[in-house]
Formats: sequence, structure tokens, C-alpha cells
Amino acid sequence: MATVNYQEKGVVFDIQRFSVNDGPGIRSIVFLKGCPLSCLWCCNPESQRIEPDVMYDQKKCIGCGKCMKACRQGAIGPENPSWVDRTKCIGCGECVNVCPTGALTLKGEVMSVNEIIQVLRRDAHYFRKSGGGVTLSGGEPLTQWRFARELLKACKAQGWDTAIETTAYGTDEAIEAVIPYVDLVLMDCKSTDPEVHKRVTGVSNEKIRKNAAKIVKMANKVIIRVPTIPTVNAFEEEFHRIAEFAKSLGVDTVHVLPYHTLGESKYEMLGKAYTMGYEIKSLPRDEAEVFRQVVLSHGLNCVVGG
Ligand code: SF4
Ligand code: SF4
Repeated sequence: MATVNYQEKGVVFDIQRFSVNDGPGIRSIVFLKGCPLSCLWCCNPESQRIEPDVMYDQKKCIGCGKCMKACRQGAIGPENPSWVDRTKCIGCGECVNVCPTGALTLKGEVMSVNEIIQVLRRDAHYFRKSGGGVTLSGGEPLTQWRFARELLKACKAQGWDTAIETTAYGTDEAIEAVIPYVDLVLMDCKSTDPEVHKRVTGVSNEKIRKNAAKIVKMANKVIIRVPTIPTVNAFEEEFHRIAEFAKSLGVDTVHVLPYHTLGESKYEMLGKAYTMGYEIKSLPRDEAEVFRQVVLSHGLNCVVGG
């Protein structure tokens, strides 16, 4: 069995329990910070930077001013459009500790593999009973690949099933380090068109397509997941192309994930603009069903959700 460095540290912004959507059985999802993409619709904008992010919820703020006094960087005050000046904030969390109402929260905590395994152990019984396990998400788990590798190795040492959700955007070194310890790769496909991909994610899909082929060769099992976004890829022709892409890789299953607007409010809390546009509404399930039928017509397996 591979030796594990339990002291390896990484930046994590959430550990979600009892998920049934991100791999088989009941799972715990460990969310790692850091992503090389910046998708317009990203529902976890707090995941994009590796550094901790302070979120400010104006609805909960009573204006007591305790945070202003606590901040040694002078980063908080009514003169800032979103309360916190992010160019001055160093993510120390002092303001969060004194806020009496929970209006301020810190997203991103440095944790060791050992600390995370202790948290995950609470649910080991459910993993065993349901055939579930642990899924690494983000962000992009390949960004903090040394940490991801040690965490996955530690999960395997516990006998747990492992999965990652990935954009497939990472270095060869990262892919070769991480994929051998993963039972299931949930790999995004956002657009087959390089121009569209660059416009909506900030990066071309050239490297992703190359990496996707490498990942499929190395992995035990890969499922392609399509965040289905109106104005970006929610067209029948695009789903024909995605199905052809899956087949060319030798992947037999595609998940259609309907766009939802649940992440919108987080942008305001981070002082970021929501460039997707508030007029774009969640994709209804019956429209997603049309795309499922397109994928099925190519002889592939397909579910809505997943
Ligand atoms: S996290 Fe630290 S630096 Fe940032 S606003 Fe709060 S107290 Fe200031
Ligand atoms: S400490 Fe919390 S409630 Fe008080 S002003 Fe700051 S954000 Fe608002």
C-alpha cells in the first residue's frame, strides 16, 4: 500500500456530508480551493482563489462596527462598496471571530490530510453501508494536486471509494499524481467550441481535450458531466457534438446537469460582478430531457442530474 503523508496541508472551503449526487452511494464532498477557470455561471465563486475569502452578508449585518475595530489591515468600512476592501484583506479571519451575527464568514481553511480524515471518519459507516465514499471537488482538485494525492491515498488506506470532479485542466504531473488513486472521474465538458469555451471560462478547451484523452486512458471509470447553460451549450447540435466527443474518448456515460442560479447571491457577498447575467434563468427539467434524448440517440447512457 502507498505510504501517505498525513501532514500534507491544503486549503479547503467546505466538507459536505450525505451527498448522493457526486458518485455512487452516500458520499462526503471535500471542496478544495483554487481553479484555473472562471466560468461565468460558477456556483462556487469562493472556490476560485486558493487564498481564504471573506464573505459579507449585508442582510445579517447590524452595523455594530466590531469588525472594523478588529481588522488590522483597515480593510473594512462603509466606504467600500461591498464592506470589505479585498485589495487590503489578507484573510486572517479576525473580523469573522468578532462578528456577533454571522454576517461575515471566512471561506478557506488550511487543513492537514490527517485532520480531514478525522472529519470524514464520522461517516465511514454510511460509506460502507451504501457503497459510497469521498469525492474531491472545488475549485479544481488538480490545482492543489500534492494535497489531493495524499488525501486520496489516505481515503484508499481507509478502504473508501474515491471520486473527483474535474475540469480536466491541470498539468501532466498533476494528472499522473492524482488519477491512480481515483475510482471514478466526473469530468466536465462545458463546450466543444474553442472560442465559446474561452469566452465563458477564460481558457481554451485545447488543453482540456488533450488531458481528457490522457485521463480516460489512466482512469478506472470516467463519466462526462455537462453543466447545461442557456446561451452557452443548451442546444441540440451541441449535445450531438458532446456525445461524439464522449464516444471518441471511449466514455459511455454522460450526465446532463441543468443550470441553476443558486450561486448568484455569493457574488455580491464576495464583492464580485455576476457576469452571467441575472436574466438567465435555471434550465427546466423538461428542456434537459431533450438533451438526454440526444445523447441516448448516440447509444450512450445518460441521466439528468447524476
Ligand atoms: S479577514 Fe482579516 S484582513 Fe480581511 S477584513 Fe477580516 S480582519 Fe481584515
Ligand atoms: S461585526 Fe458583523 S454585524 Fe457588526 S458591523 Fe461587522 S459585519 Fe456587521
